[in-house]
Amino acid sequence: MRKVTLIPGDGIGPEIVEACRRIIEAAGVEIAWEVQEAGAGVMEKYGTPLPAHVLDSIRENKVAMKGPVTTPVGSGFRSINVALRKELDLYVNLRPAKSIEGVRSPYRDIDLVVVRENTEDLYAGIERQVDEDTAESIKLITRGASERVCRFAFDYARREGRSKVTAVHKANILKFTDGLFLEVARSVATAYPDIEFEDRIVDNMAMQLVQKPHIYDVLVLPNLYGDIISDLCAGLVGGLGVAPSANIGEDIQVFEPVHGSAPKYTGMNKVNPTAQILTGVLMLHHIGEEEAARRIYGATAAVIAEGKTVTYDLGGEAGTSDMADAIIARL
Ligand code: NAD
Repeated sequence: MRKVTLIPGDGIGPEIVEACRRIIEAAGVEIAWEVQEAGAGVMEKYGTPLPAHVLDSIRENKVAMKGPVTTPVGSGFRSINVALRKELDLYVNLRPAKSIEGVRSPYRDIDLVVVRENTEDLYAGIERQVDEDTAESIKLITRGASERVCRFAFDYARREGRSKVTAVHKANILKFTDGLFLEVARSVATAYPDIEFEDRIVDNMAMQLVQKPHIYDVLVLPNLYGDIISDLCAGLVGGLGVAPSANIGEDIQVFEPVHGSAPKYTGMNKVNPTAQILTGVLMLHHIGEEEAARRIYGATAAVIAEGKTVTYDLGGEAGTSDMADAIIARL
């Protein structure tokens, strides 16, 4: 049986991960889940929020699904989400943003894919307190990391029948770092004459995505802009409750929703499981369970379109587990 590492996470993580796992099982996919805990809850026991055996499990199984994990703000341990991506060299964060009928949004028919660099930029966490009143952070951009993420974006566009890649940057101001990213993107683009290529400055990109999102297709960005712009794209299709993602390396993939652990809703059976479910759909595509992936997407979209058994953010009153039950009933 196919083994997959399952990290329930904390906050709302365990509830939405459980909803997703039940739905995948109801669709008839047999997976031996290897449950691994990470985050603040294991600090005391293992002295680290990301114990080595969690990484070993993912390295062995090559595929993991995780729920969100809380990161303390300002002080405390560094993000385990960022650590996972760096430790396992998951150099791409793929974030599709596709409209689902029935999800409230001023936009229709959005179909964007954000390809975010996942290992460097300001996320490398190279920062220090210079003196009491000054702190500094280093923005690290390398040719190697830029090249592989840009190649991924073009290969993805080709494979998925998409027509355009837009590189997003601030190379007018950050001439060395973003300048290098843009130079590499332009150079990679020459090897893909069948895919249209253009670039946009990130602030202009933010405005254009709000004004005319339909003219964009695949976006490729350095880490921090990718983080911000992908949340904007999630907003175009109805918010964080419906936005999935995949962290992709050479031979390992870790699937997780875009949103965080929303601690204020912990244990309330209240939040939307859709982002986690669509994360599961991405994972099923990856492991070759195409039919189950299609059925789960269809059942989830149908429950949302019907609008009767949906969570508060979709205009309903159903709990997380009720919405999962309704999706299972549709299957
Ligand atoms: P968040 O995404 O957890 O929540 C922001 C708001 O979005 C919530 O208050 C809620 O109103 C809404 N929301 C999020 N998920 C939802 C869902 N499934 N259904 C309905 N509404 C939903 O962002 P935050 O509050 O900035 O972060 C909370 C914690 O999560 C932080 O510790 C942060 O570091 C962490 N985080 C983890 C990940 C990850 O594990 N990959 C990603 C982002 C943030």
